[in-house]
Amino acid sequence: MIETKVMYQIKCDRCGAIYRCGSQQFFVNEESAIMEAAEDGWFVDGKVRCPKCCELDEYGENGKLKPLLPYCVWKVERFLKSIAYGVHSTIDGENFVITFSLIQIKQKDNIKNMIDEILDEKQLSGGMTHSVEICESGRNSHLFKGKVTITVRQFDVDDEVRVVRCKKNPELIGKTGKVIHARSVIDEYFIASDECDDVDKIAFSGEDLEKIKD
Ligand SMILES: [Zn+2]
Repeated sequence: MIETKVMYQIKCDRCGAIYRCGSQQFFVNEESAIMEAAEDGWFVDGKVRCPKCCELDEYGENGKLKPLLPYCVWKVERFLKSIAYGVHSTIDGENFVITFSLIQIKQKDNIKNMIDEILDEKQLSGGMTHSVEICESGRNSHLFKGKVTITVRQFDVDDEVRVVRCKKNPELIGKTGKVIHARSVIDEYFIASDECDDVDKIAFSGEDLEKIKD
C-alpha cells in the first residue's frame, strides 16, 4: 500500500536554517515541531527565527527578531548556485557567509564582478559591505574554494542614528535620533529626534541611516 503523509519542518525566515532535533528534521504534526524547536531556542510564532536570528529573554520568550535580509543577498546565493557547487549559506555573527567550490579558476574575475554588480547599489550607499575570497583548495590544484561574506547594516530599537539620505525630506539629512520602531519588513526603521518632530513620521531604510553610537 502506498500512503501519502504530510510532514512538518521548521525553517528560519531569515537565514533559511532548518530546525533539527538530533537527526530528525521532519515532524508528524505542527505542534510537536513548534514545541521541540521552541525548547531549543527557536522563535516560532507566526514568524520563524533560528537562535542566530533572534534574541530571546532568559525565559526563552519575548523574541527580539533580527530584520529580514535584503533580497540582493539571496540573489547572490542564487547566482552562485547556478555556476558553482557545494553552495552553503550561514549566519556568522553579523555576517551572512556563502561558501562554494569551483572547478575552473577562469571564472574567478567574472564571479567577483557579478557579485559586485548584484550588491553594488547597496554597497555604494553604505548599507552593506562585502568581500569575495577565492583560493586553491589544498591538495587538488584544479579545485577552488570560495567564500562571500556580506555584512548588512542593521539597526535596533534605541540605536542612535544620523540621517544620511532622505528622499522625501532632504532637510532631515544630518539630523540625529533614536530608532523607535524597527520593522521586520526589510530594512525599515522609524526614528525619533529631539531636534525635529518630523523625523518620526518618516520610515527610513537602513541605507538612509548611519549608526553613531554602539
Ligand atoms: Zn536564522
